[in-house]
Amino acid sequence: MEQSLFVYNTLTRKKEKFAALNPPHVGMYVCGPTVYSDVHLGNSRTYISFDLIFRYLTHLGYKVRYVRNITDAGHLEGDAGDQGEDKISKKAKLAQLEPMEIVQKYTIGFHDVMQIFNVLPPSIEPTATGHIIEQIELVKLILERGYAYEINGSVYFDVEKYNQTQDYGILNRRNLEDLINNTRDLGGQDEKRGKLDFALWIKAKPEHLMKWPSPWSVGFPAWHLECSAMSNKYLGQHFDIHGGGIDLMPTHHTNEIAQNVAACDKNPANYWVHANMLTVNGQKMSKSLGNSFLPYELFTGQNSILSKGYSPMTVRFFILQAHYRSTLDFGNEAMEASEKGFKRLMNSFTLMDSLQASGSTDVEIAPLLQRCYDAMNDDFNSPVLIAELFEASRIINTVYDSKMKIDAKNLELLKQLMNDFILDILGLKNEQAANDDLPKVLDMIVELRNGAKVNRDYATSDKIRDGLQQIGFQLKDGKEGTTWSKI
Ligand code: AMP
Ligand code: ZN
Repeated sequence: MEQSLFVYNTLTRKKEKFAALNPPHVGMYVCGPTVYSDVHLGNSRTYISFDLIFRYLTHLGYKVRYVRNITDAGHLEGDAGDQGEDKISKKAKLAQLEPMEIVQKYTIGFHDVMQIFNVLPPSIEPTATGHIIEQIELVKLILERGYAYEINGSVYFDVEKYNQTQDYGILNRRNLEDLINNTRDLGGQDEKRGKLDFALWIKAKPEHLMKWPSPWSVGFPAWHLECSAMSNKYLGQHFDIHGGGIDLMPTHHTNEIAQNVAACDKNPANYWVHANMLTVNGQKMSKSLGNSFLPYELFTGQNSILSKGYSPMTVRFFILQAHYRSTLDFGNEAMEASEKGFKRLMNSFTLMDSLQASGSTDVEIAPLLQRCYDAMNDDFNSPVLIAELFEASRIINTVYDSKMKIDAKNLELLKQLMNDFILDILGLKNEQAANDDLPKVLDMIVELRNGAKVNRDYATSDKIRDGLQQIGFQLKDGKEGTTWSKI
């Protein structure tokens, strides 16, 4: 089906028809997490939003190279760029661990959370520490082209110089005077020529843990630089989509554009796409504000703000019920409504398999299918899509109750619609089915073990018993046969 996709571009503040630079290929870069602590539910929302975009582009037939980095060095406490300590180094010192132990721990934790939420892995997941050489080369280029200066072993980007020929505020729509007047003087920045200048390379203090040699000093690359260097390396100087949370737009992405334009005269991406924030009582969920909680706390209900736990797919559904560009406020009532809605949708998904086709039809599915595409083509409007899926669910229930007839062609289309949009595009899993199937799988394993025992293959039967024990199931051999129970 020929589809025209419209995407909201922060650069133009407009929904634009999506045209890939080099179809069927699409290059997409999304700023990844800083792995110094557990990802909270807010971070997860952003990655679920871009997972939806990745899945839909793939569904439309694009071959997407999706690059999502891991920030494992250079992100300082003052998110603007060059104030405070490196977040990872600080955590490592407190925990008396190697910085790379911190990085390893939280990268694994991040991947676990992504898997639980059924977020697909990106095509490439580069790390900042794995691209120090590329970052040094980029700093050299910016220096050569006159947009940066070196002072005492650190290198800074010269924003005023850049703004003489380019528009520094092209993304955040702020003019330089405004920005200068509204920037706090944080002190300790005497090295910089201008208030808005930001670091590209930072000379390391003796106590700093993660540092590398460079032409300017033993030091480390600043945070904004890594994304410019890695997107450039894996997607080229100009690619299709650059994404991240909207909180990254005013500074991190603004500086990324300046770096890329300074180095190679190109704004790196055609479409700048920003996901909005998850809030709690109207306030951005953030670790520093103390209002964040972890996905695991939400699954188990173990946090004072929660009245009970919710399954990972219920949480994913809750997130997708809001458009990615709207803020989404977390609340128990909203979660309960999502839980009911998700169950309703998945119940009809399960019923769908037992529907019988008739010789005639009371319903045509093609217009509904087109409305599902229209919703997604309108800047990935998942809440409108979900409303259409409830209409599909109503049709399934009515046919199931024999109050409506559907013919084979329309039934086939209905199944395709439900499978494509619920499983592939929204990335939801039928948790009900998974739970229902488990007893059957266990019964089958017990039967296989009985067969081994009959054949006096005790090595295999013990291996099965011990293996099940390890993953939390106990087998009991009794007169009536073998039974299993959850430990
Ligand atoms: P960080 O690890 O702080 O670099 O953040 C990782 C990603 O999570 C970034 O894209 C942020 O924009 C995003 N993010 C941070 N807080 C929230 C929030 N409350 N809601 C949605 N996304 C968030
Ligand atoms: Zn970035």
